[in-house]
Amino acid sequence: MFKRAAVLAVSCGVLLTGCGKDVEQENQEIVSNLVKAGFPSDDVTVVDGAVYVGGDAHVTLEASREMLQSGKESQEQYRTTNLVSSTKTKICVTPTAAFANISLFSTGLNQAISRYNALGLTFQLALGPTTGCSATITAQTTTGVGGSSGFPSGGNPYGAINIGTGLTSYSQGVSTHVIMHEIGHTIGFRHSDYYNRAISCGGTASNEGTAGVGAVLINGTPATATVGGSVMNSCFRSSETGTWTGTDITALTTLY
Ligand SMILES: [Zn+2]
Repeated sequence: MFKRAAVLAVSCGVLLTGCGKDVEQENQEIVSNLVKAGFPSDDVTVVDGAVYVGGDAHVTLEASREMLQSGKESQEQYRTTNLVSSTKTKICVTPTAAFANISLFSTGLNQAISRYNALGLTFQLALGPTTGCSATITAQTTTGVGGSSGFPSGGNPYGAINIGTGLTSYSQGVSTHVIMHEIGHTIGFRHSDYYNRAISCGGTASNEGTAGVGAVLINGTPATATVGGSVMNSCFRSSETGTWTGTDITALTTLY
């Protein structure tokens, strides 16, 4: 959410990992699919050989193709077209050793799992590794102050959340908030202020895109965002506590 990606074109530089003709062609198709699906091209970024929308949501080729398959045209907001299937009743979130070794992250993941599970959703989150998982999300560290993840595809949540080690200079509440936020993307939540990231991030207005299939209003939630109004706002405040707002709860219980 907070990662300000600087690379605006599909490119393959010497510093990028996973570079090669196939990756480049695949990324070009993803970018093309996203633009067709209604994302403004200046909101689509390629960082380290991976395509992102909205600054932190990784889009796979499969997910980008599914976004084009829906017949629904929507001008509304909040969730992606693709959601997690109701057959996924136990979603395990398994931290890497590096993640688990950071107590703010380890505690934050436990708190995030509890706060999702307190809502009685159609799925339960479980701390991995464990058994009986119908899907697994890997919780891993990355550089920077923020996080990234991706959107569901094929009925599965996105398979990873990446949490920036720069967050260790903030409170426990901020780590918990960011982990809840990135898990939110993996199950299909878009930014609550996607239509104007300046609401939570400040600066000049920037719109992640309203047209196409990628931003569907969730029944019962407001069309407008406010500072501190949602865990799914684009940018966090240093005062975050990782607490669901009323509209977050409505959104989660309506979808799941
Ligand atoms: Zn985000």
